[in-house]
Amino acid sequence: MSLSDLISIGMTLGTGIIILANIILMNLVAYYREEQDSLKVFCISFMIFGVAWVLYISRIFDFFYVPISLAAAFYYAAIIIYYIATSRFLRHAINYYLIAATLLAYCIIYWSPGASDDISLRSYGQALVSGCIHSYFAFIYYKQFKKEKNIGHFITLSAHFIILLIEILRCYLLLESIEPMLILGIVVVAHTISLILNNIGIMTAFSFNHYKAVRSLSKKDSLTGLLNRRGFFELYQAKSCRYQEVAIISCDIDYFKTINDNHGHSYGDQILEQIAHELKEHTKLNFTKESLVARWGGEEFVIALFDCSINQAHALADTLRENIHNNEYEINQDSFRISLSFGVAHHQVNANGIEHLIRQSDKALYQAKLLGRNQVACHT
Ligand code: GH3
Ligand code: MG
Ligand code: MG
Repeated sequence: MSLSDLISIGMTLGTGIIILANIILMNLVAYYREEQDSLKVFCISFMIFGVAWVLYISRIFDFFYVPISLAAAFYYAAIIIYYIATSRFLRHAINYYLIAATLLAYCIIYWSPGASDDISLRSYGQALVSGCIHSYFAFIYYKQFKKEKNIGHFITLSAHFIILLIEILRCYLLLESIEPMLILGIVVVAHTISLILNNIGIMTAFSFNHYKAVRSLSKKDSLTGLLNRRGFFELYQAKSCRYQEVAIISCDIDYFKTINDNHGHSYGDQILEQIAHELKEHTKLNFTKESLVARWGGEEFVIALFDCSINQAHALADTLRENIHNNEYEINQDSFRISLSFGVAHHQVNANGIEHLIRQSDKALYQAKLLGRNQVACHT
């Protein structure tokens, strides 16, 4: 067995094990993402990869020698299907052309009369095709990185960029008439490292997005999309240190139980969504400084206004009260109005803690209810 055969077999074994590990890793990601479709593609990729690997490895035994072009065809088919499955590639029509072009290009490289006998001509062809494909991927991930600032996309972008550099190096070494088998060895090692980097990037991007989504979900109320208590406290702690004074408005829908009883719970939910939207929009419209709007529970909401005096907070609460009360809500051609009661409290940041301030605005809200509802009361 010649040295080049040994190098080739060594590379095949090494890359085979790494690609196998990668395929298993990406299967796990698809499983956690609950992407059943990509799991099916993975299975096909896995099987084709297995055939390709057996074909390569069979070259160790002299009695069973398979033409390298056949093994390579299987190998590239596995890689392409694997990429399709891992990068949600088929969303864009251009990728269909890319796959077709790649297959065609590799067929020409391996089966055209001149190239099939000339290893360096084949190598130029591979460098060209691989360079084009990886430039395209580098561009795609560059755009994604610019959009999302996700470090995972940067890692994947680097992986494809490394391949691009390696392909340029390959052409240079071919021109310098370096031993083609040695060049192939360098290229395969670089591709393998990039493939690992590519998958680390995909995994990192996924974990990063997943972490962001879970964090955002844990801070938001699922019905109205407003902050929940946890989100409110977290953001309040982060922002309050920048301000001297803060005002809190607590509000509660009047006779909401009657709406639920008369029209059903799902209609009550729609009203809650609408009121939440109006509270948020009117607050933004009428108060230009920083504010937080949260659903405190049931049909109760809390608004924090930074750098806001008690008079400004009272005026805003009254605007919110009036705007919502002026709206007509319709059910089964029946139109009616909804009112909210408001309690307002104010203090210097960190005077007594936010919980204390919310208790005060709650007391004021209770006063507003006692005074006949559809009112604003201030904590004195
Ligand atoms: P008041 O003017 O004193 O506030 O009277 P109310 O009827 O609004 O107050 P009460 O506390 O008696 O009733 C609140 C109702 O809000 C009872 C509960 O069924 C309803 N509720 C709480 N959460 C939800 C929700 O997520 N969806 C719906 N549809 N109703 C809810
Ligand atoms: Mg109520
Ligand atoms: Mg209530």
